[in-house]
Amino acid sequence: MSDMLTFYPAGAAPQVGASRDDTPRERRYFVWTVGCQMNISDSERLEAALQGVGYAPAEQPSDAGFIVLNSCSVRASAEERIIGKLSEIQRLKRELPDTTVVLWGCMVGPDNQSIFRERLPMVDHFVSPSAVDAVVALAPNPRYQLDEPALPVADWSHPPVSVHVPIQYGCNMSCAFCVIPLRRGRERSRPLDEIVDEVRRIVARGAREITLLGQIVDSWGHDLPGRPDLATLLHAVHEVPGLVRLRFLTSHPAWMTDRLIEAVASLPRCMPEINLPVQAGHDDMLRLMRRGYTVARYLSLVERIRAAMPHVAMVTDIIVGHPGETAEHFAGTQRLLGAVRFDKVHIAAYSARPGTRAALLEADPAQAVPEGEKQARRVALERQQEQIATERNQHFLGTTVEVLVEGEHRGKWRGRTPGNKLVFFSHPADMTGQLVRVQIDATGPWSLRGSLAGPVERA
Ligand code: SF4
Repeated sequence: MSDMLTFYPAGAAPQVGASRDDTPRERRYFVWTVGCQMNISDSERLEAALQGVGYAPAEQPSDAGFIVLNSCSVRASAEERIIGKLSEIQRLKRELPDTTVVLWGCMVGPDNQSIFRERLPMVDHFVSPSAVDAVVALAPNPRYQLDEPALPVADWSHPPVSVHVPIQYGCNMSCAFCVIPLRRGRERSRPLDEIVDEVRRIVARGAREITLLGQIVDSWGHDLPGRPDLATLLHAVHEVPGLVRLRFLTSHPAWMTDRLIEAVASLPRCMPEINLPVQAGHDDMLRLMRRGYTVARYLSLVERIRAAMPHVAMVTDIIVGHPGETAEHFAGTQRLLGAVRFDKVHIAAYSARPGTRAALLEADPAQAVPEGEKQARRVALERQQEQIATERNQHFLGTTVEVLVEGEHRGKWRGRTPGNKLVFFSHPADMTGQLVRVQIDATGPWSLRGSLAGPVERA
């Protein structure tokens, strides 16, 4: 094999598989990802780009000459997982000192690189979140060059049914508990044409569902010429031939507009699911968290969404035990959960992130919520939500739902309803990528089970 840099034609990236087994260690990569959908999407795009420049994936770090850890710092536990992995890699680097190690993602910010350089000697390079090209440029032995940005799918021999496409990077808010603006920087929207073109290329290669991603996805476009909005983008992406389903996340209550609600309600391929983090159910806490809305405003928004889409699935995020949260504030969150009756709630016990305003409050014993209390509140909320989800899902019993099948799971086919509920059913044929109708005969808080009723006929 020649080590000369050659031009590699886009769209014809070598496939992962047996033919790659003879790839030497110096041209194998190992990417390890912690964190949110944005990180997963970045890593998929990185893998595709690395394959495009002539690398092949390695099963384990010791088989790779190029190791990338895509990190998350939303909670202390996510950082601890990365630090644990780096200790393993430190041992490996002693035996194989020619390995190149990159720490990528939200742990890397302009504020902490010099500290990390001292604390993490096993890391050769630190790269800011989402900078895929910067990571690819560090791969030591490329065989090719890409002629256009890689699509966010690593292995086109098995194109995924559902692909996430970042449309915006960074965040302009300054929620007290959140480190993301420090690490991902100010908001940058990708241009409309670039996004539509990318979706067209992804769908042409077999994907059926696209989820548009942003930290505050509803604010997309405000920094672009002409200030297009997410409703405009949804209309444009919706027209991509072959696209079956369109979703977007994550919304912000202060940014969601009636125009956007209207667009979701009126576009048949745009799925009725809104991810709208509320974080707390008491105005004092929302003010302390610097969220920019009140409980009343949130509830009125939910009302407008449900008026426009009666079958919408509502999903939210909640933090319990944020510094300053009293029993009364927490009771407000429990009331809000009971009032809205979300389909799904991501609940996290607060964990201090250095450099944030809430971390300063947490350092004050009068403000900090004791760990035991945080966990007790988390468990109480999880129990409440489990009951709500159980009851909400019981409404599906005996009904027929439309399911886009994503793949196989423990001998059953696994897919999702328009509202993103997980559905399992059995069938002898390969159902991957099919849009089918499933009659629901069992429900639980986290998923539905049923039997195939037939294909979906669509105009
Ligand atoms: S909106 Fe708030 S919680 Fe979300 S990324 Fe921005 S600062 Fe963080």
